[in-house]
Amino acid sequence: MSVNYAAGLSPYADKGVCGLPESFDSKDELREKVEALAQLIRNSQYLVVHSGAGISTSSGIPDFRGPKGVWTMEERGESPHFDTTFEEARPSLTHMALLGLQRAGHLKYLISQNVDGLHVRSGFPRDLLSELHGNMFVEECEKCGRQYVRDKVIGVMGLKPTGKYCEEVRGRGLRACRGKLISTILDWEDALPDKDLNRAEDASRRADLALTLGTSLQIKPSGDLPLVTKRKGGKVVIINLQPTKHDKHAHLRINGYVDEVMSQLMGLLGLAIPKWEGPTICESSAPDLKPLPAITVKKEVKKGVKKEGKGEGRKRPAEPNMKEEDEETNVSNTHSEHPSRATLLGLSERLIRLTEGQDFAIELAYIIESSFC
Ligand SMILES: [Zn+2]
Repeated sequence: MSVNYAAGLSPYADKGVCGLPESFDSKDELREKVEALAQLIRNSQYLVVHSGAGISTSSGIPDFRGPKGVWTMEERGESPHFDTTFEEARPSLTHMALLGLQRAGHLKYLISQNVDGLHVRSGFPRDLLSELHGNMFVEECEKCGRQYVRDKVIGVMGLKPTGKYCEEVRGRGLRACRGKLISTILDWEDALPDKDLNRAEDASRRADLALTLGTSLQIKPSGDLPLVTKRKGGKVVIINLQPTKHDKHAHLRINGYVDEVMSQLMGLLGLAIPKWEGPTICESSAPDLKPLPAITVKKEVKKGVKKEGKGEGRKRPAEPNMKEEDEETNVSNTHSEHPSRATLLGLSERLIRLTEGQDFAIELAYIIESSFC
């Protein structure tokens, strides 16, 4: 599929200011500013990064409002140039540096307007990431909300059905959810995803430093989130070649290529930039991402606890503070969180009464009964 995702969006008149000239800090000026940024990061307790299309141009994906951006070219009646496909695109140095900053404990939350999936494919933990405009590789169940990260682009946009159905199974013996899966890509008029937006707003309120990378900050509400940090007393640092909508609010304004700035920054912080070894999906930032010990898994299965869905390289989110040597504690903790047989049977009996004995309610009672034998 073409990387021209823009072609799949509805026509829309107000695409913001496009094609503004780029400016570059001198070598010395850039170095000085990156040193100041490194110091701000060292002093920061809660750094939030806001990323835009400018961080993916070195991956071969055009931005929107840059000199050769999709909307800029459209205004001129020309077509944008694509060097890659979404599947073949590799995360840029900036994507990998952000992963390094997160692993080192500096970066607490990442908010992206990008739909190219490169943050997720770089291995950035999804529980610390809001993708406010969707992800070309992700489809979501409209019934239970489960998201599926695929190897290939979904090929459908504007929150429309993808033709697939949810395979989520909530318990042993129960049927799969079978809700319709829909694209997560927003069209112009679509509302932002609640969960991602709420988490992004929360992180922006908590942040003492907001760093924006490769975005002109023109799209609302995404582009205004750094101002939330500023209103709470935090600082805003903007790295972009073109002017942005909120330059006047910036504590520090850097005119340079994001990859160059991030490379110098990581050096100054003494941090290595992780190597990319192919698409890697990381669901959770919890330190213990190893699969649960076999004994725990077996016991859970016996008790009818949900099994992991197959595929997509998903990892089981670790329990907080879970360690391997706490195996037995973990097992009992897990079990104590589940309702007792009596509670479940009581609930299913109520359901039978409420539904006047419909088949599914009776079947549910049977499943609960047999699960505890
Ligand atoms: Zn579902």
